[in-house]
Amino acid sequence: MTPNQALQKYFGYSNFRHQQEEIIAHILNGKDVLTLMPTGGGKSLCYQLPAVLLDGLTIVISPLIALMKDQVDSLNINGISAAFFNSSQTPDEHQQLFEKLKNNQIKLLYLAPERLFSADSKLIDFLQSLPVVQIAIDEAHCISHWGHDFRPEYLMLAGLKKYFPSVPVIALTATADKLTQKDILEKLDLKDPAVFVSSFNRENISYTVVPKRNSFNQLLAFLDKRKDQSGIIYCLSRKSTEALASNLQAEGFSAEAYHAGLDNATKARNQEAFLRDEVKIMVATIAFGMGINKSNVRYVVHIDLPKNIEGYYQETGRAGRDGLPSEAMLYYSPGDAQKLKEFARVENNPEQSRIMLKKLDDMVRYSELQTCRRQFLLRYFAEDAPDNCGACDVCLTEVERFDGTLIAQKALSAVSRLKERFGAGYVIEFLRGSKSEKIREEHKALKTYGIGADINKPDWQRYLRELVATGYLQSSDGEYPVLQLTNKSEGVLKGLEKVYLIASQTIEERDDVIVLP
Ligand code: ADP
Ligand code: ZN
Repeated sequence: MTPNQALQKYFGYSNFRHQQEEIIAHILNGKDVLTLMPTGGGKSLCYQLPAVLLDGLTIVISPLIALMKDQVDSLNINGISAAFFNSSQTPDEHQQLFEKLKNNQIKLLYLAPERLFSADSKLIDFLQSLPVVQIAIDEAHCISHWGHDFRPEYLMLAGLKKYFPSVPVIALTATADKLTQKDILEKLDLKDPAVFVSSFNRENISYTVVPKRNSFNQLLAFLDKRKDQSGIIYCLSRKSTEALASNLQAEGFSAEAYHAGLDNATKARNQEAFLRDEVKIMVATIAFGMGINKSNVRYVVHIDLPKNIEGYYQETGRAGRDGLPSEAMLYYSPGDAQKLKEFARVENNPEQSRIMLKKLDDMVRYSELQTCRRQFLLRYFAEDAPDNCGACDVCLTEVERFDGTLIAQKALSAVSRLKERFGAGYVIEFLRGSKSEKIREEHKALKTYGIGADINKPDWQRYLRELVATGYLQSSDGEYPVLQLTNKSEGVLKGLEKVYLIASQTIEERDDVIVLP
């Protein structure tokens, strides 16, 4: 049977999607593969179809026991013999399963990573005695500290290749930036792997960021216009999900909370009600969403700043699975970023702290962007995109600009005089000619000291951010970022290039959401 025939016969589809066909061909040729495909893109088929065609057992590692059962049920309905192994099964059930495996009656075996190596089951030894032809590792980013959903039990998979050196491994994920991808390949020890990255663009989702002021009132105004729609509101803390859900209820909205600290019955009840549209709004921590397949989520709101782009993009991706216009709304405040910065520091692990801070920095950059947000997101995942998407707040807002060359020159020369060794706060104090003791005496003697006294502090903050966003300045990585010049700075300093800055009131007014046409 060819892959095309199997696609038709077992799955009832006539065409492959994205790069499914090539991915499957690689597996059939015995190659290791890393697959990045957005949620709903069709990852499962990439290993399920080879499992059908290959003569032997496919082991599927998946972190979520609840999902395994669904997958196994639907495979069995399609006439593909699949089973899962987990700790809820009795020893008798395990025995029966082992018999079937020995008799080659099972094509796909699903299990959680911790089961594979648990000492009591000796499962790994048993599996080695079987004709294993493929190993699929779902949610592969869970193996990386650098991803946003690290699971320690996934680290056990690092030794897997040693047990099955010649079996092709396919790692799958919907969320991994360059660094996480590299980490996955290394940890799993994939041999000469082929990496497939499908387009991550979600054309039907519009992206909007607005400054967070009184977030509850802002949210009410947003929700008022979307009363009959289904949506998810992500909060940072468990406590705030419950408080917000009950405040929304008090305002007459249909909302429930979801977080990992709720008891299982409540979680299941709230989730069910949301899936069945009995509850319109789910107020949740990021614990909510993985594996949830609700097609008509019309908006995803982040009321607090997410920790990184990967998480943000995955969460916003839960909107609009049905392909209809949907919205991603983020309420941004620099204060949130400051709070997250404190959490990002990992005890005794400077390397990881550095990476977490860098990722947070990217999240802040995204929030303060003056250029197309979709382009930024896609480039973040190493995909190119045009300058104007026509469906993010930046692209949809006409901004009024003015000739800010002089302002830019003042800022750049201050940075230069301060030898590129100070952060934005200090540069602004310096520009404004602050009498504070914090400003060094030798700096107070410089000609540039106080040249920007006519501009207030919030405006300077905005201008500096904009100069960074447009590449006339750069902000160094790390805990105490300093402002530095770039290769674009010189032209401005020499008066060869004009700089147009955004008039401040346009930003103030940019407070409502723009709905896709
Ligand atoms: P992912 O794991 O990437 O989130 P799934 O594997 O669950 O996505 O696939 C999402 C949906 O797309 C499923 O309903 C699946 O049956 C369907 N699908 C997968 N491949 C194809 C295809 N080639 N043609 C049509 N539908 C497909
Ligand atoms: Zn855009």
